[in-house]
Amino acid sequence: MSKILVIAEHQCGQLNASTARTVSAARAVQPEAVEVLVLSDAPDAVAADAAKLEGVSRVLTVARAENAHPLAAILAPQIAKAAAGYSHVFLPSTTFGKDVAPRAAALLGVAQVSELMGVESAHTFTRPMYAGNAIVTVEADPAQTVVATVRTASWPAAGQAAGSAPVEALALEATLPTHTRFVELRQARSDRPDLQSARKVVSGGRGVGSKENFDIIYKLADKLGAAVGASRAAVDAGYCPNEMQVGQTGKIIAPELYMAIGISGAIQHLTGIKDAGTIVAINKDAEAPIFEVADLGLVGDLFKIIPELEQALG
Ligand SMILES: Cc1cc2nc3c(=O)[nH]c(=O)nc-3n(C[C@H](O)[C@H](O)[C@H](O)COP(=O)(O)OP(=O)(O)OC[C@H]3O[C@@H](n4cnc5c(N)ncnc54)[C@H](O)[C@@H]3O)c2cc1C
Repeated sequence: MSKILVIAEHQCGQLNASTARTVSAARAVQPEAVEVLVLSDAPDAVAADAAKLEGVSRVLTVARAENAHPLAAILAPQIAKAAAGYSHVFLPSTTFGKDVAPRAAALLGVAQVSELMGVESAHTFTRPMYAGNAIVTVEADPAQTVVATVRTASWPAAGQAAGSAPVEALALEATLPTHTRFVELRQARSDRPDLQSARKVVSGGRGVGSKENFDIIYKLADKLGAAVGASRAAVDAGYCPNEMQVGQTGKIIAPELYMAIGISGAIQHLTGIKDAGTIVAINKDAEAPIFEVADLGLVGDLFKIIPELEQALG
């Protein structure tokens, strides 16, 4: 029978929404237990939130000063030790999980399953390849621990449980390396919703034309309470910062509403919005490939359509 350890992603004492999605993927394996491991210098608040997730049977905490910042070199040896007794170790396929999971897998001597998007059985999973153009079924060796990253956009967040699972401190004898140390965190600050977890996203592409013109995208997003994204062409042209890029080499997102404005719909962009709910496209080219995936399409000049939309929104 399977027993799954989910590694909590958290920042500034707050559980990241990716953890609840990873718990959903773990539950799909129908294991005997889903437990969450919180590695932190002060894990209590994060552990309390994790304990409220539906389907979590226990939360384990490791409080060490070295865990103040999520350094893969520091966390991986602890995860590898904590993995004893578990059939699976799941992490979200976010920057955090993609950084930590391969090290943990290497320490356990197993090959990692990446971007898990479906569960067929305890050791058979589906995952995307070729920028999401193909879905491959992979089988992990049942004799080994499965270390997997979970494509969070493919899973709903686990709900809130009626009660709270027990939280226990875990004593781990793990030797931590000293060759990697935290220096500084540089982070973009924004009052807008976080692109990766927002329910609504408005994205602009090369069609927006300039950094100054991008204000029209920000204004519409603010009116809708949406996060702002961009195509790679818009980022490469310097219209907006890199962390706003959506797509294969940017963020993979699953908002309820996605508005693609002045974006042609290249496959590498569409990979990032495969799991979006309603897709709205505004493009002056009626033949643009974005209209093949859009639920609602407006053909015309974005500089005419957006003000009209804003007026209609009141
Ligand atoms: C390995 C690799 C990885 C990549 N990863 C990504 C990725 O992660 N994300 C990503 O987005 N791309 C990625 N790309 C790039 C991708 O192939 C496209 O080049 C890019 O998505 C195009 O961006 P765009 O749609 O903004 O620009 P274009 O393709 O130039 O499209 C601009 C669109 O704007 C429309 N337009 C112009 N003016 C107006 C107007 N006034 N009103 C309305 N519409 C207008 C045009 O009709 C056109 O359809 C990647 C490419 C490679 C090779």
